[in-house]
Amino acid sequence: MLQALRSRPVEKLPDQVRLAGRVLFLTTDAGLVRQQLEGEDLAWRPGIELRDNISTDEITPAYICYYYDETLGDFPYLGLKCGDEFPITRGAVKRGGFVASVSGKRRGKGSSREQSPYAEMCAGIKLVVAENIERIYKENCQNLGILTTTDFSLLEKVRRGEAIPLSAFTAGEGEITRGIIEYGGLFNFNVARLQGKVVLTPPATRPRPMTLGEKILARHWVVDPARGKVGVPAVQPGDEGFVVTDIRFSHEYVTPMAAIFFEQLVGQDEKVHDPGSILMFRDHLTFLGEAMTPERVKDGLLDVALQLEKKQRAFAEKQGIKLYGELRLGHHGAEAICHSKILEGHAEPGMIIIGSDSHTPHAGAAGCVAFGVGTTAIFNSWITKDVRLTVPETVKVVVRGRKPDNVTAKDFMLEILRHPYVKSGQAIGKLVEYCGDAVESLSVDERATMTNMTAEVGGFTGYVAPDAKTVEYLMAYRAMSRAQAERLCADGASDPHAEYCQVIEIDAGAIRPMIALPGDPGNGRVIEESERVRVDIAYAGSCTAGKRADMDMYARVLEQAAERGERVAPWVRFYIQCGSQDVKRYCEERGYLELFRKVGATFLEPSCGACINAGPGVSKTRDEVTISAINRNFPGRSGPGQLYLANPYTVAASAIAGYITEWQEGMALAERPA
Ligand code: SF4
Repeated sequence: MLQALRSRPVEKLPDQVRLAGRVLFLTTDAGLVRQQLEGEDLAWRPGIELRDNISTDEITPAYICYYYDETLGDFPYLGLKCGDEFPITRGAVKRGGFVASVSGKRRGKGSSREQSPYAEMCAGIKLVVAENIERIYKENCQNLGILTTTDFSLLEKVRRGEAIPLSAFTAGEGEITRGIIEYGGLFNFNVARLQGKVVLTPPATRPRPMTLGEKILARHWVVDPARGKVGVPAVQPGDEGFVVTDIRFSHEYVTPMAAIFFEQLVGQDEKVHDPGSILMFRDHLTFLGEAMTPERVKDGLLDVALQLEKKQRAFAEKQGIKLYGELRLGHHGAEAICHSKILEGHAEPGMIIIGSDSHTPHAGAAGCVAFGVGTTAIFNSWITKDVRLTVPETVKVVVRGRKPDNVTAKDFMLEILRHPYVKSGQAIGKLVEYCGDAVESLSVDERATMTNMTAEVGGFTGYVAPDAKTVEYLMAYRAMSRAQAERLCADGASDPHAEYCQVIEIDAGAIRPMIALPGDPGNGRVIEESERVRVDIAYAGSCTAGKRADMDMYARVLEQAAERGERVAPWVRFYIQCGSQDVKRYCEERGYLELFRKVGATFLEPSCGACINAGPGVSKTRDEVTISAINRNFPGRSGPGQLYLANPYTVAASAIAGYITEWQEGMALAERPA
């Protein structure tokens, strides 16, 4: 393989770029967006209210990601909500001749799906301008060769078709990011690296006190790829380089696009590097047939989506890669959701894990550095086994005190997500270290709810230092000996004088069960201070909330309800879906499946399902209200309805009560209000 790439021509972009085309302002006013699509150019003025928080779910809603080739260029921004409207229709951006796309704060938040910038690129967008840009989305843009900036003054140059120095996009960037931009994307940069046209200098950081995250990065730092030399004494924020990975994984939403990039750019018959450390998952879409509207089925989208499974399976078989697949082909349900299985079966303290999914930090609960990357980074890691990064600053989140019994890790996160530092986007791209006695007292499963939702924080990743709970977890889940588990957990703490860019202190004793109002996980409210809301759907599942500890919490509420003869409210559809077959077996052993059936809940085989708008539990209309234990509630995430987030106790209690209800030990739930 290396031979094929060594002779491949690769050159830098010219020093000046000319971006000829129109500018599309993504505004809160649907009428203004439509005017631009119809041919009217808007002059930039600060009074134009730009859309903030445009998520990748809005740029390419989940069903758009069933496509994995240039067809995506027909679809950017189809889920963009401006006021109450979705003004962008199929093909409109491409027809409009736009070259730049402009929005407000936190552009590209949400999932790591590279289909979003790839759809924009295929529609003609070459430049993204925003007040600030989320890490994974920005890296995906750079990896694909899309330019990004927060400098709005460049818009006038674009409009006039003037040349812009390439340095306008590389200024302030480190050596590698600059190189990736100059070579027009990550693949070309890596080819130049393999050809020796780019030689990277390892960081010269002198030994210093480091956070655990920094220590793990330093140990994995690629120094001399030709000689396999890995590891530097120390790193500090801003150091840029490549780190060698222990595990690389992807799921069916991403593998096919990465496989196509691999086959087109590297070669049909070439082999990936070290297939034994690559894992693939069929987890997102196994229930899709039950959730897709008849109109979309008629449009052929179900057939398009099924191609994802086929392409991934064929690629995994050809390359000898372990695939966690469907239970049986055509039978709904998966062996496991990727994050669930990575934590249960693979992650070890001190590892570096990359995954094609923004919730990859889930595995940080085991004391490793696990982070999401886009399609191009995954495809490149199949060649090089390494991944580029810039060492982020670390935020320390200290949760202290004794939490109330009905408060969980989900409430910790909803509280953290509404903290001004996080809400204003300052935690974007940071390492997040969760600590404090309230975190230490959590099980590894509950810690995973916190590290998982680092994606909602916008962090690079989140982790919890390994301790006695981690040792017990490794022994229970991996059948490790105590000595082996203790050895893995040793030396897993931050240094006493390590530097943190911010310390957030949370008093666990003051937290009350919370909900996040529809639209954003940062919309946290204390339930007892909120209006009474009637629910139509309760969803208890996903990687975040489909672990053993979550099942224990649903069962605790439902056991008490069953003893009182209570059942799911007649108007509520209640779905419980675990994260893996291991968790399902755990439920069987404890009699939970029988309990769930008895109270009227529907148990579903593991899969992402409703969490990604692709399974039972999705809303069908805008008026339907869902209470859900998943991690995010961006518009359209789980159907068109109103999606509230809450902890597992609240979800189960609300299913019985029929209203969003804070659960209290022993409380009667089925007293129906008049
Ligand atoms: S359950 Fe939801 S958040 Fe988790 S991997 Fe699947 S789609 Fe992503």
